[in-house]
Amino acid sequence: MSAKIIDGKAFAAKLRARVAEEVAALKASKAVTPGLAVVLVGEDPASQVYVRNKNAQTLEAGMASFERRMSAETTEAELLAVINELNHDPAVHGILVQLPLPKHLDSDLAINAIAPEKDVDGFHISNVGRLATGQSAAVPCTPLGCLLLLRDLHGDLSGMDAVVLGRSNIVGKPMAQLLLSSSCTVTVAHSRTRDIEAVSRRADILVAAVGRPEMVKASWIKPGATVIDVGINRIDAPERGTKPDGSPKTRLVGDVAYAEAAEVAGAITPVPGGVGPMTIACLLAGTVVACCRSLGVAPPSDLTL
Ligand code: NDP
Repeated sequence: MSAKIIDGKAFAAKLRARVAEEVAALKASKAVTPGLAVVLVGEDPASQVYVRNKNAQTLEAGMASFERRMSAETTEAELLAVINELNHDPAVHGILVQLPLPKHLDSDLAINAIAPEKDVDGFHISNVGRLATGQSAAVPCTPLGCLLLLRDLHGDLSGMDAVVLGRSNIVGKPMAQLLLSSSCTVTVAHSRTRDIEAVSRRADILVAAVGRPEMVKASWIKPGATVIDVGINRIDAPERGTKPDGSPKTRLVGDVAYAEAAEVAGAITPVPGGVGPMTIACLLAGTVVACCRSLGVAPPSDLTL
């Protein structure tokens, strides 16, 4: 293994500590506690775990955490009513609607119902437009976390060739926008890209966000490149034995074949412990920024882009 391992877990812990300092300062100077509200509809097990972690880390940073759990049968009108109520609640500075929503609900409608200034996930159409046009915006947390790790490693990214694998609205597209804003030369690859291996091999910075376990092999990576693995995939790991129900135990892997990739890359994020922890840390930072803006106070420069 020759690559430097990018320790997202440690970076995220430092960021959360900075957030906690700012929260304490806002409480002392303005008597205001930044508040984050999460709306969770239905029983999706991965979402339940994620929301539990968010809640714990929000409280740990000294912030207020509001949770609205709604049944899987929630109607569109009921969901929009809850979002509207949170939009008007002065104790709530950030709102996120946990995705995926049950199939009968329109996620675009729900997200665009969030007041843009409280849209800490950065998915509202006006924040997407602001990011695309270089105006200050709430930025989606996972790509923001990737950018912070890249800046920490490289400083100035300008002129670097960046390839983003995946073009989803929550990761791939905003990642590409952020890299473009950082003056990288950006290529976005997806399931229709021809010779994706050769395209990937051009990258100084390769971001993998495809949701395909270990798809990116060593041969896809330019020697010395920085590899950011956004993927979180649970695969069977029969070598770890079986669960009480007889099914194989599982383990998490990224979209990159980590062990072989680390032989070629200059730096790489592990899974777990790379990009994953950055997402919630960025969400907390975004909520503090939203709180500052709601008070007419300039947000701390190290918590904004
Ligand atoms: P989506 O399924 O929404 O998008 C996947 C993208 O990958 C699509 O653009 C798709 O292309 C592309 N793709 C799929 N298969 C291939 C292939 N064989 N070759 C090339 N491109 C392909 O996923 P997300 O963006 O939501 O998530 C991506 C990964 O990141 C997942 O593993 C997810 O779990 C993880 N994730 C991690 C987060 C974190 O906190 N660390 C947060 C969010 C996601 P096309 O558009 O052509 O279909």
